[in-house]
Amino acid sequence: MIVVMKADASLEQVEAIKSRISEEGLRPSTVEGSERTIVGVLGSITRDHETALERMPGVLQILRVSRPYKLASREFHPEDTVVQVGEVRVGGGDLAVMAGPCSVESKEQVVKTALAVKTAGANMLRGGAFKPRTSPYSFRGLGVEGLEYLAAAREETGLPVITEVMTVEDLPAVSEFSDVVQVGARNMQNFNLLDAVGQQSKPVMVKRGLSATIEEWLLAAEYILNQGNPNVILCERGIRTFETATRNTLDISAVPLVQKLSHLPIVCDPSHGTGKWYLVQAMAAASVAAGADGLMVEVHPDPDHAKSDGAQSLTFENFGLLMDQVRALSKVVASDGPVGARAQ
Ligand code: PEP
Ligand code: MN
Repeated sequence: MIVVMKADASLEQVEAIKSRISEEGLRPSTVEGSERTIVGVLGSITRDHETALERMPGVLQILRVSRPYKLASREFHPEDTVVQVGEVRVGGGDLAVMAGPCSVESKEQVVKTALAVKTAGANMLRGGAFKPRTSPYSFRGLGVEGLEYLAAAREETGLPVITEVMTVEDLPAVSEFSDVVQVGARNMQNFNLLDAVGQQSKPVMVKRGLSATIEEWLLAAEYILNQGNPNVILCERGIRTFETATRNTLDISAVPLVQKLSHLPIVCDPSHGTGKWYLVQAMAAASVAAGADGLMVEVHPDPDHAKSDGAQSLTFENFGLLMDQVRALSKVVASDGPVGARAQ
């Protein structure tokens, strides 16, 4: 349920509403919008709560939120969330481009890639140090050593770093070294990990699970928001379908749909979304055209010798071509105003 305050409601009236909500054993969550304040109510709400709050001074109306996620919903938070990562804004009309190798393999590899993607126009560096791999015999990442190399690349380029955390035990190190903590597709429903990333202060990017519905994905974001971390980014990275010609099916429709249902920024990952380097540029362009707030793209100095995901990694040259197209496209999309659902 949400309590929509009148535009001229006083601070005292808002405070009184919050106290009443707490007295009832419920939890208030206040969002001050540019026009009016909204007080979200979390907990087991009854009809009596609704009538009691409806009568209080300063209240314009009470709205029931029937969706299972609340804090992640547009109703609770009508204005777009913008996640600030250093100087980079994820959301709010800017395009965040996170690029780098699938896995951090050496200091030289990650620094070289960071310099190249920065020159091409990326504004964040990606790279996995803790790698979720289907086979236990595959390269599983350099661990903390990899985090140190990412930090060295940040030092060299000024690019903020996003990297994956796989377990609650690794979180203190990942959180310390990174600027954005990534929860991978395979961990989207690791509820203990979601709670833990919600309790630390770095922004979190949650990738959509391999077979997750949009609702399950937004509920994963809800776990993090519910622990008090408001800086959540969603990442569409393709879902499993019957199709085997591509690694996954990139669900571009998720972009405007999520923007309708939620205030959280959404980024697309056409690398994992397709599994094929020659499809990445087209899908990156499609994501931007659909209104995505950012891209995550795998780039490697020598994709043929990459320790993971070489088949979907771009060379520096191809990443440059992708950026040229995306830059041109994002100007057209931005000058046209907000797209799709966000405009309504
Ligand atoms: C990754 O980004 O390195 C990764 C493993 O992606 P996903 O969790 O989407 O498979
Ligand atoms: Mn990868």
